[in-house]
Amino acid sequence: MENKETERKALREKLFNKKKHGAFRMSEEELSKCNSFCDDYISFLNSSKTEREACINAEQALKDAGFVPFKVGMELKAGDKIYRNNRGKAIIASVIGTNPIEEGVRLCAAHIDSPRLDLKQNPLYEDNELALFKTHYYGGIKKYQWTAIPLSLHGVIVKLDGTSVVVNIGEDEGDPVFCVTDLLPHLAVEQMKRSSTTLIKGEELNILVGSMPFKNDEESESVKLNILNILYEKYGVIEEDFLSAELEAVPAFKAGDVGFDRSMIGGYGHDDRVCAYPALRALLDCKNPAHTAVVILTDKEETGSDGNTGLCSSYLKYFIEDLADCFGVKGHHVLSASQCLSADVNAAFDPTFPDVMERKNCAYLNRGVCVTKFTGARGKSGTSDASAEFVGVVHRLLNEKNVIWQTVELGKVDAGGGGTVAAYIANLDVDTIDVGVPVLCMHAPYEIVSKIDVYMTYRAFAAFME
Ligand code: MN
Ligand code: MN
Repeated sequence: MENKETERKALREKLFNKKKHGAFRMSEEELSKCNSFCDDYISFLNSSKTEREACINAEQALKDAGFVPFKVGMELKAGDKIYRNNRGKAIIASVIGTNPIEEGVRLCAAHIDSPRLDLKQNPLYEDNELALFKTHYYGGIKKYQWTAIPLSLHGVIVKLDGTSVVVNIGEDEGDPVFCVTDLLPHLAVEQMKRSSTTLIKGEELNILVGSMPFKNDEESESVKLNILNILYEKYGVIEEDFLSAELEAVPAFKAGDVGFDRSMIGGYGHDDRVCAYPALRALLDCKNPAHTAVVILTDKEETGSDGNTGLCSSYLKYFIEDLADCFGVKGHHVLSASQCLSADVNAAFDPTFPDVMERKNCAYLNRGVCVTKFTGARGKSGTSDASAEFVGVVHRLLNEKNVIWQTVELGKVDAGGGGTVAAYIANLDVDTIDVGVPVLCMHAPYEIVSKIDVYMTYRAFAAFME
């Protein structure tokens, strides 16, 4: 009898695929490395609230580590470090490997744009002695979540004289912040009858920016005049300059620890900087790779990846072609031999909303980096679906390097689903698979991730590129 029990136990141990909290499989030393890595991530997140800021910070980190701007035709050898900045909104960086380039590159991709409220081109107006900005939201949001929270304003205004001013208001101690107003519950009887998709309508996402008239002037629109005067004095811009501006309103609060145990990080824009930062760090730490390592931090994922800074454009392909040219090799030969971890966040199981998840295949906080064989919605539509062979390569690699990971899907089969940039990279004939960090409250102004998962995503990139 006892023998049978021992035998069953041994067999279970051998055959069952065990899922466990990552902490059970990490040493004290590793957990402490994880925490200090996450501290670095939090400071990156707090200073990278837009794709432009993430790009600036990534470029600075690359420069500090000895990366130089890539020049077409430059002579490259193993260990050389290069990067290309795409219009200040996306960046590709690479460490040249010891293997010939025709053996392909190891590519890690993540996006640095996040859902937010963009100002329209004619944003400023006055209504009943209040000054407001009109917005058009960027990416998929639950609009009602973006009211009654402090917002900061980031971006760039290109003036008629060709110069531009960088805007960043609401982040520093003492800065004013902005806010989309909402109705008080007392008077919201009719509003609360609306369906939740229209609880706040797109045209109701108006940002309150001022309420004082210019020099107590009683002329109409003097509140607007006062705001324009403040902007003129601070930035030298006039109302017409908004036409050529990109201004983004994002949550003004800072990222930080969540939970009594400080095991999680809450903040704006984890999607997808929580993959972008680990990818960047892994490249910075990548000293002597066999295959040339490439990290791409891209823009425009949240709106479908179109545009010249999104991954539907040719900029990645052109970079690889230019890189291949340096070695007298054809770009598409490099691409066809390449492998890619396409890194984006995934939905973590939320015990309050279990119905959208299939528990055997969904992502859980703290079980490590997610590996997603396929994405897509309703019949895998829009997925690149990594091959069993390539999943096998990644599976072996992560196990061998003791990276804690989980295989996941994005919610129940017919619950909705979503896509990532993986398909666009796979379309270049690159073996591609989705990996990333599980997130709670994805696309909300405040998203939550676990520190173990963030660190394991870094470990996965490092293992893949080294
Ligand atoms: Mn994403
Ligand atoms: Mn997203």
